[in-house]
Amino acid sequence: MAKKIFFMGAGAFECTICGMKYREKSHADACETWCKEHPNTCDPKIAKKSIQE
Ligand SMILES: [Zn+2]
Repeated sequence: MAKKIFFMGAGAFECTICGMKYREKSHADACETWCKEHPNTCDPKIAKKSIQE
């Protein structure tokens, strides 16, 4: 389950596997699902929605 975090002044969600951060919980959950099935890769469609640091 994606972890609720506080990032750059607003609530966000973090994939607990790869650590990418998202504003939408559904995106963070989708990232986790991907990370479980495809370790050490990122789905570009999901990664595009991540928050850049
Ligand atoms: Zn991930």
